[in-house]
Amino acid sequence: MRILVIGSGLAGINAALLASEFADVTLLSKGPLEQTNTQRAQGGIAAAVAALDDPRRHAEDTIRAGAGLCDPDAVHALTGDGPEAIERLLQLGVEFDRKADGALALATEGAHTIPRVLHAGGDRTGVHIQSALVARLAECDVDVRTHVTVSELIVEAGRCVGVVTDGRETLLADAVLLATGGAGALYRTTTNPANATGDGIALAFRAGAVVRDPEFVQFHPTALLGANSAFLISEALRGEGAVLRNAAGERFMIQVHPDAELAPRSVVARAITETMHRDDADHVMLDISHLDADFLRERFPGVYRGALNRGHDITAGPISVAPAAHYHMGGVYTDVAGRTTVPGLYAAGECASTGAHGANRVASNSLLEAAVFSSRAIDAIRREPGPARAPSGEMRTLHWRLEGCAPSLERLQATMNDLVGITRNEAGLQNALDRFSEWSAEPPTQVDPSLPLATLTARLIAEAALQRTESRGGHLRLDHPGEDPTWHRHSLWQLARE
Ligand SMILES: Cc1cc2nc3c(=O)[nH]c(=O)nc-3n(C[C@H](O)[C@H](O)[C@H](O)COP(=O)(O)OP(=O)(O)OC[C@H]3O[C@@H](n4cnc5c(N)ncnc54)[C@H](O)[C@@H]3O)c2cc1C
Repeated sequence: MRILVIGSGLAGINAALLASEFADVTLLSKGPLEQTNTQRAQGGIAAAVAALDDPRRHAEDTIRAGAGLCDPDAVHALTGDGPEAIERLLQLGVEFDRKADGALALATEGAHTIPRVLHAGGDRTGVHIQSALVARLAECDVDVRTHVTVSELIVEAGRCVGVVTDGRETLLADAVLLATGGAGALYRTTTNPANATGDGIALAFRAGAVVRDPEFVQFHPTALLGANSAFLISEALRGEGAVLRNAAGERFMIQVHPDAELAPRSVVARAITETMHRDDADHVMLDISHLDADFLRERFPGVYRGALNRGHDITAGPISVAPAAHYHMGGVYTDVAGRTTVPGLYAAGECASTGAHGANRVASNSLLEAAVFSSRAIDAIRREPGPARAPSGEMRTLHWRLEGCAPSLERLQATMNDLVGITRNEAGLQNALDRFSEWSAEPPTQVDPSLPLATLTARLIAEAALQRTESRGGHLRLDHPGEDPTWHRHSLWQLARE
């Protein structure tokens, strides 16, 4: 059996390692192996491993934060498999931080009602996970090809049978697993690496797969904005007691939510945005300097050094933060086995929509999702059970000319930032869609094989954001500020048949 895995983050490498036990595996990655969202993860990975915790409680916390759109089966699969996924990561060599007595150290993060977040190297969890996985990959029999962009999936008689890379080479396989990560780099202001352009969603959509809830983009509440990138200030700081203040120095989250700074991300990001509007400022202040400086340097070495390199010392006083595009809840629809609606095509990790996050992801659940559902997908491939049943609900279709493309990634990012960003309204979204239509008519001026994919994923986000005339989770419409019970449902998208 031959399996193609697209992506070298936690979902992709974990899947490749498992698949190599029974199949010929090729792993393709657009950049270097480490240019992933996985590598950047800071706070940690959530799982019910504490004596007082239990997967049902983890599931309850997850569902509460999901703004009504979590799929309970997916959530229970996520939290139920959580302890086993942690065991596997330990076996693969991830050295999670431990307390003096040798027990795993567990942190608290937003929406988790009990400490359950494992971390490594303080706040360098992603670096530790990525490097352990890359080391194991080097030891096993996987054909690894970096700097290769998958530009198209090959579909024959309705089945995915391979991929085209960089618009040229064809690779055939019995099964293809998309593990292409997030879409943050569709925005100018993002915590994601530049290659996180949501390619997997567009690839799957063009191959006929169902895409679900693309409008739900999570903006991380607290990032240090630089000229070309946003540096994440982990939620774990707020878990340890960091507070947010407005321009007058007041803690504004106390009035907004009973959990104050530890409210779900969408609530905090929205409150920060509103506070920035009110104060006519481009940031609010985050302060953790009341804690011991040595403790902060040891607990948050990555954030401490990263902020210092940008001219901010978290031990010395408040630092300026603002929201940035961070995580994509929407994605390629899969069932709990990681199967898409196209036979032979699977998806796992951030590019998938398993239903585990609903409209708002809980902190530290995404690394867990990547670990759990990549293992499940490989299990499904081994058993060859056929595709997922199409989800029930109204299916919207979208025509897409394959050559449709933004003139440059920068133009696309500016459009997404300005018109499809953290706050949205009908006029802005329509304006964005008009631009997409104009671009569709223009011949592509760039050779980057990701650009047409990025453009399509961006368009799906904008189309779905326009359709959803309410505010829910990560989707905030200024012209429809409340939740609308008639929108208590997923949005489903599929390519229109010509
Ligand atoms: C700054 C930051 C901090 C975070 N902190 C946390 C945290 O503490 N806890 C948590 O749970 N989550 C966190 N997240 C989210 C989490 O890191 C990601 O959701 C998760 O790592 C995604 O893993 P993945 O394997 O799905 O994708 P990724 O790790 O992003 O890997 C995607 C891979 O796909 C490849 N790829 C993409 N398109 C193509 C293509 N067309 N052809 C070939 N290859 C392609 C890329 O090159 C890359 O190798 C954080 C994210 C960021 C950005």
